[in-house]
Amino acid sequence: MIELKHISKWINQGSKPNFILKDINLKVAEGEFISIMGPSGSGKSTLLNVIGMLDNPNEGEYVFMDQDVYKMKEKQRSQLYKTHIGFVFQAYHLIDELTVYENIETPLLYQDVKLFERKAMVADMLDKFQIVGKKDLFPAQLSGGQQQLVGIARALIAKPKLLLADEPTGNLNSKQGEEIMELFTQLNKEGVTIIQVTHSEKNAEYGTRIIHLLDGRIERNKEQRNEKHIERIICPCNNIYILLFI
Ligand code: ADP
Ligand code: MG
Repeated sequence: MIELKHISKWINQGSKPNFILKDINLKVAEGEFISIMGPSGSGKSTLLNVIGMLDNPNEGEYVFMDQDVYKMKEKQRSQLYKTHIGFVFQAYHLIDELTVYENIETPLLYQDVKLFERKAMVADMLDKFQIVGKKDLFPAQLSGGQQQLVGIARALIAKPKLLLADEPTGNLNSKQGEEIMELFTQLNKEGVTIIQVTHSEKNAEYGTRIIHLLDGRIERNKEQRNEKHIERIICPCNNIYILLFI
């Protein structure tokens, strides 16, 4: 699904470049659930933003679903993002002037979904996240946990194939965090590819692979070999899931 080749990003400070990402090579297959870890300032958010097409590197290639991202026109690239990628931000990034309902609806407006269909899809999300009673409130009237649920509902409403989440539980209490990790696990079982940035070892273990970043480089890239994790091979021809317990 994703292939990053020799991705580097730097800023010029004085005479020499200061690397934020340095020669990142990474392949992600459809159906994976990856956790990115690393100390603060190691480049995790920048890497996630590059994968989410919100930021461009200075060097390197990016192939997303067989398309060369940096050779595409801006409009096509933005269409690719809107169709396939959902992004959950640590600081929620909800629109203050819009209600919960309107925030969740936003991605559908970009995709020209008809009104009656939008209503049904938003209602479905409100129901799934048990926030029906909050639909007419504004973000400032919600707790952090509730705002993050709205952020996740918004990221998922257009049914993305890839969900990117930058410390989605960073501002939540541990119970709320656990619920979100359970939700991600469920989504992943349904076939959504997930890449999350996290500081928490416990949350990282929900993933099937953990990538450690240090000073803008991939330091370790480790498959989880834990009996509770299931490797799924998805047969594209007939939607049959073959489960391998490893
Ligand atoms: P992390 O998410 O791991 O904490 P970031 O990806 O946010 O790390 O940032 C990595 C480093 O790059 C930090 O030192 C940060 O200050 C720096 N950085 C990120 N974006 C920019 C930018 N646009 N201009 C200058 N420095 C930046
Ligand atoms: Mg960060």
